[in-house]
Amino acid sequence: MTTFTHEFDTPVFKKKVSFPTGIFINNEFSAGVNNTTIDLVNPTTGQVVAQVSEGMPADVDRAVAAARKAFETTWGLNTPGFDRGRLLTRLADLMEENMDELAALDAFDNGKSFMMARHGDVPFSISVIRYFAGWADKNHGQTIETTEAKFAYTRHEPVGVCGQIIPWNFPLLMMVSKIGPALATGCTVVLKPSEVTPLTALRMAQLIVAAGFPPGVVNIVVGYGSTVGQAIAEHLGIDKVSFTGSTVVGRKILEASAKSNLKKVTLELGGKSPSIVFDDADLDQAVKWVALGIFGNAGQACVAGSRIFIQEGIYDKFLEAFTKHATSIKLGDPFRADSQQGPQVSQIQYDRVMGYINSGKEQGAKVHTGGSRHGNLGYWIQPTIFTDVRPDMKIVREEIFGPVGVVIKFKDEDDVVRQANDTLYGLAAAVFTKDIKRAVETANRVQAGTVWVNSMMSGNVQIPFGGYKQSGIGRENGEAALAEYTNVKAVHVNLGHTL
Ligand code: NAD
Repeated sequence: MTTFTHEFDTPVFKKKVSFPTGIFINNEFSAGVNNTTIDLVNPTTGQVVAQVSEGMPADVDRAVAAARKAFETTWGLNTPGFDRGRLLTRLADLMEENMDELAALDAFDNGKSFMMARHGDVPFSISVIRYFAGWADKNHGQTIETTEAKFAYTRHEPVGVCGQIIPWNFPLLMMVSKIGPALATGCTVVLKPSEVTPLTALRMAQLIVAAGFPPGVVNIVVGYGSTVGQAIAEHLGIDKVSFTGSTVVGRKILEASAKSNLKKVTLELGGKSPSIVFDDADLDQAVKWVALGIFGNAGQACVAGSRIFIQEGIYDKFLEAFTKHATSIKLGDPFRADSQQGPQVSQIQYDRVMGYINSGKEQGAKVHTGGSRHGNLGYWIQPTIFTDVRPDMKIVREEIFGPVGVVIKFKDEDDVVRQANDTLYGLAAAVFTKDIKRAVETANRVQAGTVWVNSMMSGNVQIPFGGYKQSGIGRENGEAALAEYTNVKAVHVNLGHTL
């Protein structure tokens, strides 16, 4: 069985870290049935740095059996919500004790800045677990008035065994956003992390054991999408699948559900989100937020504001300030305190993003700044801004998932709402203006699950998150997430009405 061992000796984190990286079932690690491994590559250098055990569909079968048994014996309706909440709180406490290490693992695996992980992803992830811990004993049904001869009530019962498939861009945050509501409502879990970034999930497995969760409540099978992911989506023993990833794979998940047992499906998919800057906006602030929106996390965010609409009166001024900001972003080793942008996560993503940059050039868009690789090692790409684009270009229509934005001029509110909504996606949008009426009117007219006014990328676990149109089905976070993991049962009690 595989183990991850690494001596972190960096300016921001120094510690020898070692933990098992096998298939995690019934609170134990083991090799996969085929005894094969997956190489992990450090995106900063392109070097193979570790191996993790590779799961197979037969490992998914083992994990589902463990999750089913736990659901029927030690979890689900057998453990009061109060106790489930207490275990989640203990898990959050353990995460808090290990914040630096969790941040380091995400930075190492994904290439994101340690400081951003430490002060962004990790505290947010802890808040997710604490928030759902609080819900565990508060997800009540209702009593419903009918007649005096009948008493009716509803129960919110856990759906059962949940398959959860997550991507690589926020490895820890994606994991907790899935397991938090599932465990709070009493579901058990078979989680598949991205094969590119499995380390934090496997370290979390140890914390889950230490927190005292019974065996089989959380099971983790690292593996490829076409094997383990597909096996989860098709599995007859899984009652619900929750997926975050690309729209292409999201379709496959829905199809697999339809062809197997009609398991419930929630999908958090891609986006091509508009950032809209009106001419009365605070320019300095708008530049900073818009830049964070497209260059934050090296552009690898589903909510990235990749279409940047600027009102014509401030177009030149905005572009000048935005370019200055983009060229000042410090690309550097994720473990340096001053690094603001790391590499893309993998060779595949690097090639994909560069492919889009080349298509923009070929289709006649103008590279205003950036447009090339950065350095000689690893998968680094310069912050890139395109101008002179047309609505039919691939870089305007398709999700790039890299630090590449297109800047587009608009005339007025009607014009920008029409352009902003001219997309298959509907995940997020941002509106910058000092005029509250204009802000609210635009927010109401944009087809997106999240609209930020005078900010971007800020999330809170209390607020529901999800997509319109082809950006997804269902909601994560907030009270809305609970409904995705529960069945509502209506009980009709006859108090004396005779036939
Ligand atoms: P991806 O769809 O390729 O992979 C996501 C996960 O699905 C991975 O674990 C992968 O192994 C698995 N997978 C791949 N093929 C599968 C299959 N046939 N069956 C089952 N599982 C399969 O996406 P990615 O490249 O890892 O992540 C980037 C994408 O994720 C982007 O499109 C991005 O917008 C989206 N994303 C969305 C959100 C959101 O909340 N809406 C958040 C983060 C990322």
